[in-house]
Amino acid sequence: KKELLKVENLKQYFPIKGGLLGRTVNHVKAVDDVSFTVYEGETVSIVGESGCGKSTTGRAILRLDEPTDGNITFDDVNLQSLNKKKMRKMRKDLQIIFQDPYASINPRQTVRQVLEEALEIQNVVPKNERSARISELMETVGLGAHQADRYPHEFSGGQRQRIGIARALSVNPKLIICDEAVSALDVSIQAQVINLLKRLQKEFQLTYLFISHDLGVVRHISDRVIVMYLGRIVEIADKKSLFENPQHPYTKALLSAIPVPDPEKKKERIILKGDVPSPIDPPTGCRFHTRCPFATEKCKTDTPQLRTTDHMKEGHQAACHYMNEIHAGTKEPNYV
Ligand code: SF4
Ligand code: MG
Repeated sequence: KKELLKVENLKQYFPIKGGLLGRTVNHVKAVDDVSFTVYEGETVSIVGESGCGKSTTGRAILRLDEPTDGNITFDDVNLQSLNKKKMRKMRKDLQIIFQDPYASINPRQTVRQVLEEALEIQNVVPKNERSARISELMETVGLGAHQADRYPHEFSGGQRQRIGIARALSVNPKLIICDEAVSALDVSIQAQVINLLKRLQKEFQLTYLFISHDLGVVRHISDRVIVMYLGRIVEIADKKSLFENPQHPYTKALLSAIPVPDPEKKKERIILKGDVPSPIDPPTGCRFHTRCPFATEKCKTDTPQLRTTDHMKEGHQAACHYMNEIHAGTKEPNYV
């Protein structure tokens, strides 16, 4: 399979200014050395709590914020090497959908105007074919061509997200980054929009990078899942391995928080102590050590690297010193 997106050693540090001279006194290390690949036609999700760096990663890929360091290759092109004009052209292939489509849609424009503008900027179809294309887009996202002359506020949240999807689709992209794209919607509407995204993926050979805090949603859409904690990847696996054979204690804690439909299979909820530490001064060693039930002295000093051990499938990696011991049940959690 073709590598469509390759992120290598991505770092995104935001300066914090302070003092009388407004000098940079520190940095928020929002993303700190993140690498992964997305292959053509797949859906890769990035999950984690707010502040883990997942949205920052999405924004850095699109250069909405200029990355501090690292390499981003999309469709064999190094994105950082592109000037503004070329990057804008690249946006034809690389689209993003946000959580709140209303915020990114001009409320004074009708849906038709919104879509016209997108088509015009990227010059996708000749002017005299735009109207037909808009009708087609509306049908494609399940809204009906006649609704194009209405204003965004006349639509429900789910319908507005369909408009957002139509706008992203209008330029025939290869990759769509969905940043919490269904998070604001009711559960039943979430399912409809996810089904729509899946159908469109098949129809138009789309690739998705799906950013979400919700593992329940991620389960329905992903081929592979990346779990982030405090700016780092702690686990990466195909969906089945991640849900059935999670390795990192953080992943296990996130999974334990998803409600199970079958009350017979009640699982033990792992409650993490404390809050996520500040990304300004992240913990040394394993960044999860302040909250991990298995942490030892070694975890405070040695940074675990992503690796695969014997009981893991190929392509499944996690960053914990004690995966073997925890898996074998020979390491007891230090609950006090
Ligand atoms: Fe927990 Fe240590 Fe593993 Fe980090 S390396 S997840 S602190 S056991
Ligand atoms: Mg976010």
